[in-house]
Amino acid sequence: MTTPEKLFSELLGLGDAWVVERAAFDEAKKALELHVRETPKLWDEERCPHDGSAGVVCHDHVRGLRWRHLNVFNKEAEIVCDLPRGRCPACGKVWRVDPPWEGRAKHFTKEFEAFALTLMREMPVKKAAEILGEQDTRMWRVVQAYVEEAHAAVDMSDVTCVGVDEMARAKGHRYLTVFADLVRKAVLFATPGKDSETWAEFVKALAAHNGHPHALTHVSMDMSKAYAKGVRDYCRNAQIVYDKFHVIAHANQAVDLVRRAEAQSGPATAREVLVKSRWLWLKNPENLSRKQRARLRQIDQDMLQTGRAYQMRLALQEIYALDSSAAAAQRFGEWCRWVRREARKASRWLLHHMAGVADLIESHIAGILAHWEQGVTNAFMEGLNSVFSAVRRKARGYRSIRNMITMLYFVAAKLPSPAMLSH
Ligand SMILES: [Zn+2]
Repeated sequence: MTTPEKLFSELLGLGDAWVVERAAFDEAKKALELHVRETPKLWDEERCPHDGSAGVVCHDHVRGLRWRHLNVFNKEAEIVCDLPRGRCPACGKVWRVDPPWEGRAKHFTKEFEAFALTLMREMPVKKAAEILGEQDTRMWRVVQAYVEEAHAAVDMSDVTCVGVDEMARAKGHRYLTVFADLVRKAVLFATPGKDSETWAEFVKALAAHNGHPHALTHVSMDMSKAYAKGVRDYCRNAQIVYDKFHVIAHANQAVDLVRRAEAQSGPATAREVLVKSRWLWLKNPENLSRKQRARLRQIDQDMLQTGRAYQMRLALQEIYALDSSAAAAQRFGEWCRWVRREARKASRWLLHHMAGVADLIESHIAGILAHWEQGVTNAFMEGLNSVFSAVRRKARGYRSIRNMITMLYFVAAKLPSPAMLSH
C-alpha cells in the first residue's frame, strides 16, 4: 500500500538519499508539514566539496530548518528537516549538505521559487508577495538570487552593436546607465551614474562575460559628450551612431521652448491656446484626431513661430524616410540652412531654439548619418523607455539601485528560464 509519506517522497522527487518520514497537518497554522530526513544512502553519494574525497561521515544536524513549498490542496506546505552537516575524515572540513529540493534563496523549494518567479514576471513584487502570502523582502531575495545566477551565465562574446541610454529611478532621482545588445534586443548591463566612467564598468562586465570592447562596431546613443568620450576611450573600432529618436527628441524640446516663449510674449489671444496645446506639438499629424488637426491648423495661422517650429520638426523627421545617407546628408544641410534663415528674420526670433538644433546636427553629422549605414534598427532603444516604466512599476516601494538593476535584468535581459539553469 502507498502511504502518504511514500507518495510525497515521490512527488518531491527525493530519490533514495532522502525520505519523507512524516506528513502532518498543523491545525493552528493550517499548513501541511513534510518532515524529511536523510537515508544512509546520502553518505554513499556525498563527496567532500573541498577535495572530492568519498567516505565522508555525518558530523551533526542543523535542527528544524524549513522550506516553503507549493501549496497542496490549497494549503500552504513546508518541508521541515534537521539538515545534516558532513565531515571529511581526510581533510577534517565540515559543510552543510545541499538538499536537492532547495531553491536559490535557501528558504523555498525550487518549485516554489519557479512559481514565484512566474508570478513576478507578470506583476509587481509586492502584489506577487500578497498572492503567495509571503513577505516581499523574501520575494526580492528570490528574484535577486535567480537574476544573479542567470546574469552571471550570460555570454557576451558575439556582442557587436550596443545601445546605451540613461534611466531615472523615479522623477528627479539618480540615474542608471543601461547598455543593450541591439542584435539580440536584450539589456546587457546597468550601472549607477551617467558619465564616461559608466563605460569603464561596462568594459569590465564585457570582459567578465567573454566579450571584448574592440569587438564593438556600432554604439548607438544620445548626443551627450560623456557617452561619446567613453566610446573613444574604450572602443576604438566602434562607430558612434546617434539615434533617430534622440535627434527628434531634441527637436521636440526646441519646439516646446518656442511654444513656451511665445505663450509668454506673443499676442494675448495666443497665450491661452499655447499654454494648453503642449501635447499637440509633440505628436505627429497622423496620430491626431480630426478635431486636434483643425485646432493645430488654427494655431498655425495665428501663432507663426510655434507653427513654423513644428513644421521644421516634421521636416526633420521626414529626412529619416530617405533610404540613402547621401540623400539624407544633402537634406540635413538644406534643413539647417532653412532653419537658420528663418531664425534670422526679426519676426521669427524665437526660432533661435530651432537654430540650436541645427548646430547640434551639424556638429554630430557623422554619427547622425551612421544611422543609414548601421543596418541595425534602433527600435529596441526607443522601446526601452516602456521597459523602464515597467521596471519602475514592478519595483514600486523598493527602488534601491540594486533592486532596479535586478528588475531591469529580470524584465529585459532575456535570461534563461529558471528551470534551464543547472542548479
Ligand atoms: Zn575533504
